[in-house]
Amino acid sequence: MERIVVLAGGIGGARFLRGLKAAVPDADVTVVGNTGDDIHLFGLKVCPDLDTVMYTLGGGINEEQGWGRADESFTVKEELAAYGVGPEWFGLGDRDFATHIVRTQMMSAGYPLSAVTEALCARWQPGVRLLPMTDDRVETHVLIDTAELDESPGNGAGGGSGHGPGGGPGGDRRKAVHFQEYWVRLRASVEAHAVVPVGAESAKPAPGVLDAIADADVILFPPSNPVVSVGTILAVPGIREAIADAGVPVVGLSPIVGDAPVHGMADKVLSAIGVESTAAAVAQHYGSGLLDGWLVDTVDAGSAQAVEDAGIRCRAVPLMMNGTEATAQMAREALALAEEVGA
Ligand code: GDP
Ligand code: CA
Repeated sequence: MERIVVLAGGIGGARFLRGLKAAVPDADVTVVGNTGDDIHLFGLKVCPDLDTVMYTLGGGINEEQGWGRADESFTVKEELAAYGVGPEWFGLGDRDFATHIVRTQMMSAGYPLSAVTEALCARWQPGVRLLPMTDDRVETHVLIDTAELDESPGNGAGGGSGHGPGGGPGGDRRKAVHFQEYWVRLRASVEAHAVVPVGAESAKPAPGVLDAIADADVILFPPSNPVVSVGTILAVPGIREAIADAGVPVVGLSPIVGDAPVHGMADKVLSAIGVESTAAAVAQHYGSGLLDGWLVDTVDAGSAQAVEDAGIRCRAVPLMMNGTEATAQMAREALALAEEVGA
């Protein structure tokens, strides 16, 4: 199992990758990162999931928070707020700002995101090849009720900038908001009626993505959000097909443990796409056309049979990423299951 491709979101993907690197330090790991969470703030391009992977593997992450820089300060943010310039709901620290300035500067000079990501990684040395899923603009939007938007907390200056259809004065009942607005500002506290990766249908996989998948010995889905992380990556035309056609084991780890997301609000976006928040339902959602193996947590051992019945080999092992050794063991289990289904 030399060449490993991992489709990753932010925190769940990054923490798993750290365990994978500990388990197989010499493996050649290519990460296809979600860019549907990307957002322009203060004129800067921010790529939260790519940065979470880069900072986590590069040793610069805020460990407790799971995102953003360690040892961070917020002077720039405070100064912007003093000018009345928001949004205030998105936490950008001073150190983090530098990353977004460099990225935006390079992109303004004409470099694609994939080249910019490579340049940023030259500093962080994450020990993996980090590729954005696409160099094209894809933005995940969430459809919510406008009434909930108006009543929601933090709906002040700088916030409430919805996109897409609806939202006119006294007009449509529903409105599409940027994923970050739904997740960070509204804290996923309102119902999501739909999740749409806007622009995905015409996006092309970034250079290197399809080749890495075609050349992989194994493909892993870490316990990342199945809708707004892995789902968004799979929405880029060509990626899902390349995985299915690669002819190598594809193994995933459940982000749902005991019928709830371990962290975050994956249940809200799963319900928007009509999928139950259970480890088995997520496996069935990916389907046997994509997945060969699926790991559920030991507390969900009872659901393993339902996964097997869907044509996906299933094992129940501890899936809580409490520290690097526990996470490395999860990675070993995933690779062992890959060996098993590949045999
Ligand atoms: P995000 O982009 O930062 O939201 O991160 P990801 O999409 O990569 O991962 C988010 C998912 O990770 C959530 O749905 C969580 O349920 C899952 N997750 C976080 N910590 C753990 C853990 O310790 N074990 C498992 N199995 N899943 C986890
Ligand atoms: Ca994310």
